[in-house]
Amino acid sequence: MSNSLALAPAPPSEAAEAVRVEVREFLAAELAAGSFSTHVDTWLSGVDPAFSRKLGERGWLGMTWPRRYGGHERSAMERYAVTEELLAAGAPVAAHWIADRQSGPNLLRYGTEEQRQSILPRIAAGECYFVIGMSEPDSGSDLASIRTRAVRNGSGDWVVDGAKVWTSNAHASHYAITLVRTAPSDPADRHAGMSQLLVDLSLPGITVNPIRILDGGHHFNEVVFDDVVVPGDMLLGVEGAGWHQVTAELAFERSGPERFLSTYPLVAEFARRLAASPDPAGLVTLGRLSARLLALRQLSLRIAAALDRGELPDVPAALVKDVGTTFEGDVIDEIRRVVDGTPSLDSPDPLGRAMAEAQLHAPGYTLRGGTNEILRGIVARGLGLR
Ligand SMILES: Cc1cc2nc3c(=O)[nH]c(=O)nc-3n(C[C@H](O)[C@H](O)[C@H](O)COP(=O)(O)OP(=O)(O)OC[C@H]3O[C@@H](n4cnc5c(N)ncnc54)[C@H](O)[C@@H]3O)c2cc1C
Repeated sequence: MSNSLALAPAPPSEAAEAVRVEVREFLAAELAAGSFSTHVDTWLSGVDPAFSRKLGERGWLGMTWPRRYGGHERSAMERYAVTEELLAAGAPVAAHWIADRQSGPNLLRYGTEEQRQSILPRIAAGECYFVIGMSEPDSGSDLASIRTRAVRNGSGDWVVDGAKVWTSNAHASHYAITLVRTAPSDPADRHAGMSQLLVDLSLPGITVNPIRILDGGHHFNEVVFDDVVVPGDMLLGVEGAGWHQVTAELAFERSGPERFLSTYPLVAEFARRLAASPDPAGLVTLGRLSARLLALRQLSLRIAAALDRGELPDVPAALVKDVGTTFEGDVIDEIRRVVDGTPSLDSPDPLGRAMAEAQLHAPGYTLRGGTNEILRGIVARGLGLR
């Protein structure tokens, strides 16, 4: 892993700019055909399997993976261009997002040949969706305190008991990479004794209970495991190495442009309003937001380039997520100060609707994927400050 913040600049990529044009054309055609409408924060709340399958057909999922696993052996910069365009358009990408972003790369890194061959091509086709099974009712930031446990039975299978919470889209997904305790907690090494299991969410004994968010939407869940028998060959990676594997997975989770583009559709709508009726205060706000956005994008692009070089830039990823999610929230406050009208989900005005969506999703921006306080701790340690 890289503890350095001194990442090399991202090289210009003609291939990335070419695929960017293709994605823009595709999105314009889909919007015109009414196959989706733009919303804020769609990488978590815009579940649309048909749309995910269309992306799979075009080769825009599993883009960097080997061809033998259904991938397309393209660069991280090309993948970056595709994800950036999808996010900017507020397209419904939540069904496949976690599988494509982190579960697939996790499987490539730690999975057995059989696990890779049976699952990765389905992810790349936009047909197989994953969730993150880390947080528990009493374990979020302090993930080492998880209590969900898995014990081997006489047949070599795992019997899982416990509960996960805030599990985004578990009701619409096929697998959970689930962090479990496979050995009792050791006070001398709290990170030991954890493992990752590939859990098929349709197994008997699993209950998925919805948790609604402020706007009434359902993407969160509580997932309860009651004597769930998981086949022995569904261990991911090495027994007892769960902590190390989760840390690597989190670098993929934290590094992407979704960490500052969740509210981009609001910025775009604001810019459209200003283009139609410019006002000095609004233009100053747009300028300020654009400058921050461009700086974040440069940092994020450098991380994509580092991933392309095979590095795992966990400290820069924590930094871009901290600064990026702060920006996502600031967007709402800054625009609200210079725009008249009341935000409402039912507003006929796209700007009023985008403001309401962004505001109602805002409490999650700085929490999901690790809170900003935790990320700052990672950055401080990475810089040798703690
Ligand atoms: C929209 C959304 C989607 C999510 N999706 C998933 C998912 O799919 N799968 C999953 O596993 N989890 C998911 N989560 C859970 C998320 O990872 C946790 O909410 C997060 O890790 C924080 O844990 P917690 O909620 O238990 O808060 P706590 O850990 O209880 O923290 C509460 C507060 O205390 C602060 N704090 C805690 N410890 C420290 C410390 N050592 N130093 C300084 N401050 C500290 C935190 O920063 C925070 O402000 C999601 C959360 C959200 C909001």
